[in-house]
Amino acid sequence: MKYVDEYRDQELAKTIAGAIATEADPEVSYHFMEFCGGHTHAIFRYGVQDLMPQNVHFVHGPGCPVCVLPVSRLDDAVELAERHGVILCTYGDMMRVPGTKQRSLIRAKAYGADVRVVYSTLDGLKIARENPERQVVFFAIGFETTTPPTAVAIKTAQAEGLENFSAFCNHVLTPAAISHILESPQVRELGIVKIDGFLGPSHVSSVIGSQPYEFFAEEFQKPVVIAGFEPLDVMQSVLMLIRQVNESRHEVENEYTRVVTEEGNLKAQALVSEVFELRKTFDWRGLGSVPYSALRIRNAYADFDAEKRFELSVKASREVKSCECPSILRGVKKPTECKLFGTVCTPQNPIGSCMVSSEGACAAYWTYGRFRQPKPLEAAE
Ligand code: SF4
Repeated sequence: MKYVDEYRDQELAKTIAGAIATEADPEVSYHFMEFCGGHTHAIFRYGVQDLMPQNVHFVHGPGCPVCVLPVSRLDDAVELAERHGVILCTYGDMMRVPGTKQRSLIRAKAYGADVRVVYSTLDGLKIARENPERQVVFFAIGFETTTPPTAVAIKTAQAEGLENFSAFCNHVLTPAAISHILESPQVRELGIVKIDGFLGPSHVSSVIGSQPYEFFAEEFQKPVVIAGFEPLDVMQSVLMLIRQVNESRHEVENEYTRVVTEEGNLKAQALVSEVFELRKTFDWRGLGSVPYSALRIRNAYADFDAEKRFELSVKASREVKSCECPSILRGVKKPTECKLFGTVCTPQNPIGSCMVSSEGACAAYWTYGRFRQPKPLEAAE
């Protein structure tokens, strides 16, 4: 599968669906968590669930960095823009995420704050160079995929003596979150969330490699298949997971071999560890406090750390109580189980982060409208 057409080829899809239907044991119920929002969207956009037998279920995971950012950190970003008068540079997804009392960056901008959507850290650096009299803060969020560019920006700012540039660091780590989910009472003791295996992150794994997943595949005895984001990637990975479950294996397998290697991108990893260090703990929306699950800027680069440069004083952040994002991010509920879904909460009027982000589960359900259809769960012939 080298080209996009092949990743979406109808005949190949039918062949894999047929293999899944043949190999899935009708006596077994398979529950696979797709960690990444990118997988959730591929499943919904291309109707992958419709090609699965009735006993193969997808459990949506927390792999959307916008969705898992706690309200308190968003409130901090709004405060940076409003109270400290900085130019706040952010990726577009963050603009409409509601914070406490429905504050958001787009509202802050409407009220006069200087919030600018950027496409890369390079844009943030450019804005800093062009506005030497202003403080420019880059709102750095994301998993391991987006961390190296932030590291490059900080090193570049230091090399250029760009003293008006800093980063508000919210980079989080995937393996820690997966371990946390597997250790949660809902999975371990109560059996509320059943997980028989993981569709492992694709872009994240291009940076960290497949090796970091070995620990919890062994420790928790759960198979992991690193899966690309195309529909046939997802289907092939499901087939590989079914085979592992059927054979009582719990290994890390790599379906996304065209990009992911065992050791990952060593250059990017070195860059990240030069600029960042582990936080002892970090709050995730939905998961709560997760030990060693996020990064902060090392002291050597403290001059470019917005958390050190500005005094952030947001104290009482609050989520919308009736929003079920926390349960959805833990795989406990589906978006359609939220009473606000599609009524009060839509992409035009999002109440929670899962409806805003292009990787959010609520946005996937709403955008592709599959929740409206009865489930045709017969596998393709
Ligand atoms: S539908 Fe809206 S309110 Fe409900 S869980 Fe999703 S984002 Fe939150």
